[in-house]
Amino acid sequence: MRLSWRRSSDAEDRFEQWIAQQHQQRVLAGETTPSGPCPDEKFLRDLARRSPNISLSDPRVDHAATCPTCMSRLLALRQEQRSRRRKVMVAAVAASCAILMAAVLVGIYTTRHTPKTENAMAVSQTVNLWDAGTVRGEQPGQLQSVSLPAAHINLTIVLPQHSSAGQYLVAITRDQNGNGLIAEGFSSTSATSGKEQITISIDLSKAQAGQYFLSTTHEQEQAAYYYPLQIR
Ligand SMILES: [Zn+2]
Repeated sequence: MRLSWRRSSDAEDRFEQWIAQQHQQRVLAGETTPSGPCPDEKFLRDLARRSPNISLSDPRVDHAATCPTCMSRLLALRQEQRSRRRKVMVAAVAASCAILMAAVLVGIYTTRHTPKTENAMAVSQTVNLWDAGTVRGEQPGQLQSVSLPAAHINLTIVLPQHSSAGQYLVAITRDQNGNGLIAEGFSSTSATSGKEQITISIDLSKAQAGQYFLSTTHEQEQAAYYYPLQIR
């Protein structure tokens, strides 16, 4: 139903177009008699772009439709408008392509450069706990005094002697019961000249200067070892 309607509509459009072309040819050949004088250029321009200001009952419309001079001017104006519209469209498409390209480039630039910037801003720090006691009950605070800046830190921790290899959770907390977590990271050990060490990236840039605790917890052990830490 819809298909046949659609087809007949297309056929009607073609038929009307054909009639219009026949009419145009007759007008341009001077076979029609226009009534009244030729309207001004502005009116023809408005008519060519089918301005809603123009009423079809306006006698100048009848004139233009039957005057060879006005008709050829109208056809030229329509041609002009069509190519201008095409140019505007090409310009618009080019502009949106340029915007898209810029967005893509900015995206690529940002993706490529953000990690570098972060790395450049991060401070490398090493905390050496090699001589810190690992025997429970010992007072690690007397053995070790750790100080870190309030910044993004690539932190390398040399673990105490006899520490197990494996994964460690490193946390910086307000107290030595694990309360008031400031930052934490999880990393595997690597051995350097027989010393187990871990490297994590932590953000202390928002931490206020003061006394904190650094803790290390081996993945297979329940106990965390706390070391007094000063953020400066
Ligand atoms: Zn005319």
